Amino acid sequence: MFQHVAYYAGDPILGLVDKFNADPRPHKVNLSIGIYFDEKGKLPVLSCVRTAEIERAREAQPRSYLPMEGLASYRQAIQHFVFGKNNPALLNNRIATIQTIGGSGALKIGADFLHQWFPHAKVYVSDPTWDNHKSIFEGAGFSVSTYPYYDAQTISVKFEEMVSFFKTLPADSILILHPCCHNPTGVDLNPQQWDEVLQIIQTNKLIPFMDIAYQGFGDSFEKDAYAIHKAIEMGLSFFVSNSFSKNLSLYGERVGGLSVVCPSTEEAQLVFGQLKAGVRRIYSSPPSHGAYITAQVINTPALFQEWEQEVAQMRERIKTMRQQLYQTLKTKLPHRSFEYFIQQRGMFSYTGLTPEQVQRLQDEFAIYLVGSGRMCIAGLNTSNIEYVANAIAEVLA
Ligand code: PMP
Repeated sequence: MFQHVAYYAGDPILGLVDKFNADPRPHKVNLSIGIYFDEKGKLPVLSCVRTAEIERAREAQPRSYLPMEGLASYRQAIQHFVFGKNNPALLNNRIATIQTIGGSGALKIGADFLHQWFPHAKVYVSDPTWDNHKSIFEGAGFSVSTYPYYDAQTISVKFEEMVSFFKTLPADSILILHPCCHNPTGVDLNPQQWDEVLQIIQTNKLIPFMDIAYQGFGDSFEKDAYAIHKAIEMGLSFFVSNSFSKNLSLYGERVGGLSVVCPSTEEAQLVFGQLKAGVRRIYSSPPSHGAYITAQVINTPALFQEWEQEVAQMRERIKTMRQQLYQTLKTKLPHRSFEYFIQQRGMFSYTGLTPEQVQRLQDEFAIYLVGSGRMCIAGLNTSNIEYVANAIAEVLA
């Protein structure tokens, strides 16, 4: 009966995690999946989250269904966090926001919506991008191509090529953009480059879909949302998928959101209705626990402040690891340049290691990176960094 069903080879990143877990070598190091581990190599439970949870557990909480669009206080928290409380688009009710099952769920609901209402549009993702961007938009029925992005020679953005490419696209082309901490390269646009890109988007009437999964891991909550704030200021209509998986360390709670900034209140209401319809036909309504906790953290000034400090600590720890890796490798292999480790932003670094070198790290040293050479810097700590640097130096020698 199911003989015709195609074999699924598994997800390249999640498959590596399974392999890592099964690896018996005690000194193994997981630098593959995009998860922040603390200095002890553990998944942190943020203190602000703990406080909100204890508060919530004080009394028995009945678990009714949430509405299709999710918890109202959570949706408001997303809007305040991503766009800023006093944003004119927000004050004019021009932003339709729903709670989603992680950032992935936001991409899926957004992709389905776009395919239904812009069926002839084409989708463009950065070359390279997070693999699931392509899968999710293709799964929604789109044809997905790439736009020039990463320049392996200069370890920066192929900005001129990218901009020229955008200029050739017809109206309503959908661009998946990473406002900060680009996954997988760690290479971001600077504010001037964003200004130029957003100008082209406006002139050519392209549809930006900003996927922000690492807000706070680059420079700050505020600075990492530069592209979003600028797009609002310019009066653009656009999509934002956001995730609290990483910055609240709430991966399994699936806390995400989809916001659509619309030209008018009336259009925002129409869009909101269709987003709800999209949710209804896939999973009916989202889960509640993570939403209550997240809303409590964001909507309580003292908890928000604590959260901001905790994210700053995570960000600084990643930067320290980048610096140490850079220093050690520079000493070991002085003829090579490793500046990119300290120039890239966020959790990820495109190391330039070849698939063969990545395989050697795994086979000989039990160090797991993604085949593309992407390393999750947040898996490094003071106990394993020397070991990892030595191993990298050895495979590069
Ligand atoms: N977008 C990007 C760029 C990501 O890296 C991720 C997570 N790896 C997501 C979206 C999805 O986030 P979530 O885990 O909340 O579904």
